[in-house]
Amino acid sequence: MPTPMRRQYLAIKQQYPDTILFFRLGDFYETFDHDAEIVAQVCDVVLTSRPIGKNQRVPLAGVPFHSVEPHIARLIGAGYKVAIAEQIGNKPPPGQKLVDRRVRRVITAGTIVEPHMLDEDKNNYLGALTVDPSAGTAGFAYTDITTGEFATTQLEGSELGHLVGEELARLKPAELLIPDSLKDSLLSPSGGLFGQQINGEEPGFILTPLPDWQFEQESARQTLFDLFEVESLSAFGCQSLPAATIAAGALVQYLRQTQRDSLPHLSRLRTYSTGEFMLLDEATRRNLELVQTIRGASKKGSLLGVLDATRTPMGSRLLRQWLNQPLLNRAALDARLDSVQAWHDNLVARAELRDLLRQVGDLERWTGRAAQNTARPQDLVGIRQTLTLLPEILEISRDNQQNGLSQLLCSDVLDLLEKAIAEEPPAAVSSGGVIRPGYSAELDGITVAARDAKDWVASLERSEKERTGIKSLKVGFNKVFGYYIEVTRANSALVPEEYIRKQTLVNAERYITPELKEYENLILNAEERQAELEGELYRQVVAQVAAAASRLLETAHSLAELDLFTSLAEVAANNRYVRPQLSDDHRLDIIGARHPVVEITQRDEPFQPNDLQLSEEQCIMILTGPNMSGKSTYLRQVALIALMAQIGSFVPADSAHIGLVDRIFTRIGAQDEIHAGQSTFMVEMVEAANILNHATDRSLIIFDELGRGTSTFDGLSIAWAVVEYIHNHPRLRAKTLFATHYHELTALAERLPHVVNYNVAVAEEGEGVIFLHRIEPGATDRSYGIHVAQLAGIPRPIIHRAEEILEDLESQGAAPGGLFSPDDIGPSMNPMQLTLFGGPNPVVEALKKLDVNALSPLDALNRLYELQQMTQNKESE
Ligand code: ATP
Repeated sequence: MPTPMRRQYLAIKQQYPDTILFFRLGDFYETFDHDAEIVAQVCDVVLTSRPIGKNQRVPLAGVPFHSVEPHIARLIGAGYKVAIAEQIGNKPPPGQKLVDRRVRRVITAGTIVEPHMLDEDKNNYLGALTVDPSAGTAGFAYTDITTGEFATTQLEGSELGHLVGEELARLKPAELLIPDSLKDSLLSPSGGLFGQQINGEEPGFILTPLPDWQFEQESARQTLFDLFEVESLSAFGCQSLPAATIAAGALVQYLRQTQRDSLPHLSRLRTYSTGEFMLLDEATRRNLELVQTIRGASKKGSLLGVLDATRTPMGSRLLRQWLNQPLLNRAALDARLDSVQAWHDNLVARAELRDLLRQVGDLERWTGRAAQNTARPQDLVGIRQTLTLLPEILEISRDNQQNGLSQLLCSDVLDLLEKAIAEEPPAAVSSGGVIRPGYSAELDGITVAARDAKDWVASLERSEKERTGIKSLKVGFNKVFGYYIEVTRANSALVPEEYIRKQTLVNAERYITPELKEYENLILNAEERQAELEGELYRQVVAQVAAAASRLLETAHSLAELDLFTSLAEVAANNRYVRPQLSDDHRLDIIGARHPVVEITQRDEPFQPNDLQLSEEQCIMILTGPNMSGKSTYLRQVALIALMAQIGSFVPADSAHIGLVDRIFTRIGAQDEIHAGQSTFMVEMVEAANILNHATDRSLIIFDELGRGTSTFDGLSIAWAVVEYIHNHPRLRAKTLFATHYHELTALAERLPHVVNYNVAVAEEGEGVIFLHRIEPGATDRSYGIHVAQLAGIPRPIIHRAEEILEDLESQGAAPGGLFSPDDIGPSMNPMQLTLFGGPNPVVEALKKLDVNALSPLDALNRLYELQQMTQNKESE
């Protein structure tokens, strides 16, 4: 027969079978059975056992309640969900032996609110996806419950999987909810709905399948009606978009199930269309290193790293969002650019504002926690501090901002927090002292009474000493007897009559008096009542802040924008960027363009700016030039400048005319995804196919080499045909930059009127080559690959031999692909030539002769020095 506690545990666990159940027992969260084994392993805590009945024990692993967050973080990181069962009240309900327990929250990857578990400059999204194959639609909704952002969209068309994949790549949800019935088809590596996008890799988010009924239209609508207290969804724009409604509704239902007591504050739902944004596929985001570098995945070295001079986490998150969704609407972009320009031109105001913004914190997440009833005193102090700064911020930005910040002062909330919350409250409400004196007469009364009583007790020792004449009389306190008066035995005779003996010690007696007991009661009751009342008042204050959450979040959003505009202005001023001229034509005309990251990180030589002119007449540029000359840098800088212009940033150039681009595609380098079951060449072709199938005449395409992963003839033929296709296809004629070492491709410029050749200039100096990094009209026919190989440290005999072979090939006019007879290449290197520097190697010979055992350490050092000298002499021969 299991114990009552065990029965209670099992009953709760049954309701949350797919979570790790943290069961509160006193100061610990305990886990049992298989959960305990997982916790012990993942969190590195000791696995013990606990009796659950006669002769029966089960595995147990526990963590102290005050340090639970890191453990939860580890479990979430390992892909688990954690249900937190708390004790309800301190005493068992009448007629029962056990304290009641209930799950307060289920923490999952997409529903974390704990500050330490979140990246402050990144949103943490929970997404929901539904697909209706018969209607050919998909609904995708997402929310960040810490900031209240909530949006949904409906996708349709023949490229559904592709569109879904792009939304997932843009938002990178931490957790994605899907209907059970879709699980298999979505995840099929051979082209499931987003199988093609994720190339069989782990999708990078936790997938949470839910019963299909949670994705039904009627219940979804009803859920949204209830949440927003409305009777139609038309105000949110998804009234006639069933898939978008279903996704949003399923998301809210999941939050209801998991957040229970702390349902987040979602005050509105935004229905958006992916047509508002420039589409960027996952490969392009990665290749352009928008928010992190390819190598090392660091922010430093990415475009975000250069552009992020924001002063608040909210501004930083907004910049990330903007970078992930460049706009297509010229008016909206011009409005952003106007704001950046205003701050750019007003250095003094900018500096003042940025100084103030430094003191503004994360109003968005603090408000989110207040709305969820999980706000700590520090969060309220943060909100207060931010609101205090608003009038000054407003004053400085009066001339420069258009976003109506003035309505967003939230002075009522500020007033409340100034009155209610202490100047420097403790971290936990239970410590007392969170509520400011003067806020509640009742609380003040209790506090004063308690203080007076304490003062009385404190003065008792002195007054009783005087009254009784007992010098050693002491007043003390212990948990069993409360306050007492202690008198040594020697003085027992002097004890007044009204003292009541309570405890006898070896050398002393302890007494109480009725009056002392009265004060004691007063103190203890007051402390209990004080804690209760303070807790109650604190909850009321949080609730009042929560009621103002929508306004506070709007203020937060305005502050985030202000922060971002001033940050973009600051970066523009520091890095000499210019305002791009946006237009709806098809022209890209950039003078003196620079790469925003390379120009900063490259210290040893100044960055060489370059121009670019692409238009309908001249839309495809074939770029040839030596290895290492700067082709890739040039291609990327053009893409980055277009993208920067379309988030509303100034750009690194002397001037820039940007005809808005609907998509940027990149096919860059060879990324071998063997682990994903695809060869280098296959990846190259998949990416190229994606580009050719989706680009339009408004797109910008970057090909940094194409067809290099196969034989020269195959590769060249494919590259040639691709350029022809882009040039001739009526849908395409996209602006295309094509860097290549297939010099044969330059012949296309003579055949196709909209193709132009450019090359990167070099200066030859004697045997060496100097890279000028300057882009010039015309083609080149040399790659200087052998020169670069030498710079890279390829052994000299190989370099010499390669030069010989190249000379032979060039003199015979050998075609690429190696159609030559090996006999034409001359005799190959013999083994002797292959020794380190040609001929028998004296260093090797000397080494062979050395008797290492006979050498003293000093001898060894001398010999090493000699050997090194020999190599240097040999090298300079
Ligand atoms: P490969 O053909 O071998 O891929 P590439 O021509 O694409 O080479 P990049 O990788 O673009 O060459 O550039 C090589 C290096 O040259 C860069 O790492 C950068 O340091 C430097 N570089 C590129 N462009 C410029 C420039 N405009 N001004 C100064 N330095 C530059």
